[in-house]
Amino acid sequence: MNRFENYFDNAATTPLDPRVLREMLPHLGAEFGNAHSLHSWGSRAAAAVELARQRVASLIECEDSSQITFTSGATEANNWVLASFADAVVSPFEHSSLFETAKAKGLEILNNDGLSLMPPGKSLGLLSIMLVNNEIGAMWEPSAYREWSSLQHSDITQAVGKLPSKVSDLDFASFSAHKFYGPKGIGALFSRSSAPEPMLHGGEQEEGQRAGTLNVPAIVGMGAAAAIAADELDRDLQSATAMRGAVLEGLTKLEGWQVNGGSSGSPYILSLSFHGLVGETIVIEMDRRGFGISSGAACSSRSTEPSHVLTALGMTPEWLTGTVRLSFGRFNTLEASAQLGSVLAETAKDLQKLQIR
Ligand code: PMP
Repeated sequence: MNRFENYFDNAATTPLDPRVLREMLPHLGAEFGNAHSLHSWGSRAAAAVELARQRVASLIECEDSSQITFTSGATEANNWVLASFADAVVSPFEHSSLFETAKAKGLEILNNDGLSLMPPGKSLGLLSIMLVNNEIGAMWEPSAYREWSSLQHSDITQAVGKLPSKVSDLDFASFSAHKFYGPKGIGALFSRSSAPEPMLHGGEQEEGQRAGTLNVPAIVGMGAAAAIAADELDRDLQSATAMRGAVLEGLTKLEGWQVNGGSSGSPYILSLSFHGLVGETIVIEMDRRGFGISSGAACSSRSTEPSHVLTALGMTPEWLTGTVRLSFGRFNTLEASAQLGSVLAETAKDLQKLQIR
């Protein structure tokens, strides 16, 4: 079994691209300097960080790289934005790092009708609407909601490096490197004018906005991943579209299943529900048959709580429980995707036979 080819959980995380690893390695060895030191070890590290910042900025069409602040990932960036706005409102489809934070802070959550977001009925300080949903791949265009609030934030984690993602209509945006073949534990917050109030106080790193010694190897990795993604985005996108089609082709003869999230979502994410089956059982059975898939959002797939995203769509328990997510990436192939489709159809059929009617 080829571990890379059969891994269809790229929305949870992607493998590190070997080209990214190559760029990171010197910074895990001889180039160990602290990017804030005055000597040459430090200035080489600082130069590597600034190149990475420019590469990341360029991937999201941000002309001023000083608008990028490195964080430990999208979770931190999302929490940071919400920590700074007492009157923020979030969409009901947000990742748990926004949804649960909003709930914990008693913030308002927009109403929805299916995938459509309902106007808030009052003018808002900050509105947060993601570009691509991590569970179902549905997409929203933040510029369509511009009049609803003075400032707009978007969690662009599932779009960056995969779909054209520009921040020209946004005030803040959050994302993580490991969703586009970079290392884990590194991400960024884009802030158009003023960065939010610092969440971490301490040293003067990141213009005093985010204290702590910079994780230079990870930042270099994020920059390398951004540069590769910019070059390969079109090819990756075409290939994801073809792979998604190949999986669906394999399921045509099967009954009792549906695609979630509408027809115009991200081609990288395919959410499927099998009526009366249990998503986790399908995941375990598919793993036994050599394929890595998810029973929903990885962040919540170990939880017994039903997904807030699928619940907001009004899915009945018989469909909701039988949901799995397949997510495509650079190292999957058309052949492995076709196999995935037929093995998934066989697995669902086997489990359907076992169902007590
Ligand atoms: N937002 C979205 C849309 C995500 O898919 C994820 C990762 N599942 C995150 C935020 C959080 O990213 P991280 O765990 O890297 O902080």
